[in-house]
Amino acid sequence: MTTKSTLHDQRTGWPVHHALSNALLIGLLTFGMALLGIITRPMGLLAAFWPANAVLLGVFVRHPRTARWPSWLGALAGFVAADLLTGSTWTKSLLLTAGNFAFVLVGLLIYQTQREEIRLLRRPESIVYLVLIIVAGALAEGAVGSVINPVLFHGSAEAGFSYWFSAELANALAIVPVILALPTWRASSPGRARLIRWPTMAKWMPAAVFVASVMIAIRLNDSGSIAYPIPALLWCAISYSLFTTSLLTSMYGIAMMLSISTGQMSLGAATSDLHTLLALRIAIALIALAPLMVASVMGARNALLKQLQHLASHDPLTDALNRGGLMERADMLMRQLHDARQPVSVLMLDIDHFKSVNDQHGHATGDRVLREFARIVHGMLRDTDVFGRIGGEEFVVVLPNCGQDNAWQIAERIRAQFGQHALSSEAAVPLRATVSIGIASAGIAMPSLSTLLPDADHALYRAKHAGRNCVAAAGTTKNPG
Ligand code: GH3
Ligand code: MG
Ligand code: MG
Repeated sequence: MTTKSTLHDQRTGWPVHHALSNALLIGLLTFGMALLGIITRPMGLLAAFWPANAVLLGVFVRHPRTARWPSWLGALAGFVAADLLTGSTWTKSLLLTAGNFAFVLVGLLIYQTQREEIRLLRRPESIVYLVLIIVAGALAEGAVGSVINPVLFHGSAEAGFSYWFSAELANALAIVPVILALPTWRASSPGRARLIRWPTMAKWMPAAVFVASVMIAIRLNDSGSIAYPIPALLWCAISYSLFTTSLLTSMYGIAMMLSISTGQMSLGAATSDLHTLLALRIAIALIALAPLMVASVMGARNALLKQLQHLASHDPLTDALNRGGLMERADMLMRQLHDARQPVSVLMLDIDHFKSVNDQHGHATGDRVLREFARIVHGMLRDTDVFGRIGGEEFVVVLPNCGQDNAWQIAERIRAQFGQHALSSEAAVPLRATVSIGIASAGIAMPSLSTLLPDADHALYRAKHAGRNCVAAAGTTKNPG
C-alpha cells in the first residue's frame, strides 16, 4: 500500500518532478550554450563556435534517461529564448532550431542502438562509431540548412548544406568526445585517505610540447601548419587519459580555426575562398581524430593491463592478495616504514580445523568459509593495511604504524567477529569455524616481510597449541574469555 502519492513517468519510472527538473536544467544549458554561440559569432564566420547541439547530444547519450520529451521541450525553449533575446524573429528562430534538433535527434537515435561501452568511448572502435554518428547527424543538419539558407538568407541550397554540415562536424567532433569521456565523479569512501598527487615535470612535458607546437604552427603560417601539432598530440594521447586528450584535441581545433578565421594564419594564402575554408575546417576536425583513436586504444589497453595485474597479484577465490602480490606490497610498505623509522606488526591467521570443515560440509562450503573469512578481515582493516592469502587457509596482514598492543586488539576483534559469524551450511551438522592468530611486531620496521614472518608463524604455532581460537604474540598467549 502506498501512503504517499508521487506521480511517476510510465516509461522511465522516475518521479515526474525529476523529469521537470531535468527539463529545466536542459533548457538552461541549451539557453546558455546557444547564447555563447551567438555572442562569439562576430569572432569570425568560420570559427562558427556552436557548442549547443554537441553538448545536448553528449548529455543525452551520457544520461539516456534525460532524453525524454520534457527535456526536448526544455531545449526548444532554450534555443528560441536565446534567439529571441538576441533579436531573431520567431520564424527564424524555429527554423534554426529545426536544424539543431535534426543533428541531436539523428545522433541520439543511432547512439541508442549502441552498447554503453561503445557510447562511452571505452572501446577503440567507439571512435569509428563516433565519426559515423556525427557525420550522419551533420548530414541531417546540412539537409535542413539547405532548405533554410534560401529562405532565411537568400543563399543557395548547396552553400547552406556545406556551411551547416562542416560547422556541425567540426563542433561535434571537438565537443562530443570530451563529454562522453568525462570521468564519472565518484565520492570517495569515508575514512579513505585521499592523496592528491600533482603530475611531475615529466608528466607535463607532452602538454607543454603540444602548446609550443600549436604556437609554432601559427607563427610559421605554412600551408602545412595545421598538421604540425599532431606528433605532440599523439604523444599526449599515449601519456594522458582519453578525456584529457579529447580536451587537448578540442583546444587544437579551436586554436587552428580561430587563427585562420581571424587572419592570424593564412596558410600560404590557401584560405582565400569559402570552399577551401570549409574543407580546411573539416580537415582540422578529421586530423584531430588520430590522437583520439590512439587515446582510446591506450585506454582499453590500460584497463586490460590493470585487470591482468589484478589477476596476477590476487587470489581468485578470496580476492585477497596472493603470495607473490602480498610479498611485493608488503616489502614495499616495510621499506617505507623502515626508512621512516616507524613500527609495524604482522598477523598470521590460520583457520582452525579447516580440514574437518571440508570433510563434514564439503569443499564448496569450505570455499565459502574462506571467502567469508576474507570478507570479514578485509572489512576490519584500514586502506593502508596489506592483506593476503599465503596458503590454503592461511592469511597474513601487515599493519603499518601499529605496535603490539594495537595489533593485539585488531587480532582479537577479527578472532571474535569470525568466531561469532553465522556460517550457513546445507549439512545437518552446524558449521562452526574459528581462527588462531600469531602476532609479530617491530618498533622500527625491518626492510622486508620475510624477517618478521617466522616470528608470526611461531606465535601462531603457540596459539594452536594453546587450544586454538586464540591470539598469541611474541612472549604472550591469551585464550578467549
Ligand atoms: P589446524 O587447526 O591445525 O590449522 O588444522 P587444519 O585442518 O585447519 O589444518 P590443515 O593444514 O591440516 O588443513 C588445511 C586444509 O585446508 C586442508 C586442505 O584440504 C584445505 N584447503 C586448502 N586450500 C583450500 C581451498 O582452496 N578450498 C578448500 N575448501 N579447502 C582448502
Ligand atoms: Mg588451519
Ligand atoms: Mg594451515
